[in-house]
Amino acid sequence: MTYKCPRCGSQVQKGSSRGAQFAGGLMGMLFYSAFSSFKCDTCGRIPRSEFPPRVQGRMLLGTVLVLIPALALFLVLLAILFGR
Ligand SMILES: [Zn+2]
Repeated sequence: MTYKCPRCGSQVQKGSSRGAQFAGGLMGMLFYSAFSSFKCDTCGRIPRSEFPPRVQGRMLLGTVLVLIPALALFLVLLAILFGR
């Protein structure tokens, strides 16, 4: 998913950190990608609150779509571990 920078109109990317991915594993990576801020090449970090409400809604939807499978996977693992 790509979004436009609210300040200059160019594309922003999600900040990524390989360190966090290694440290947190799959869950850490999912949560990090869900809650990380966005970065514009010219303006630097852009807080979510600067994006238009419509875009924020889309981001929220994207976050939910990422978190629900992660949560489901977690519950399945719990069921396998403790369900016998
Ligand atoms: Zn910008």
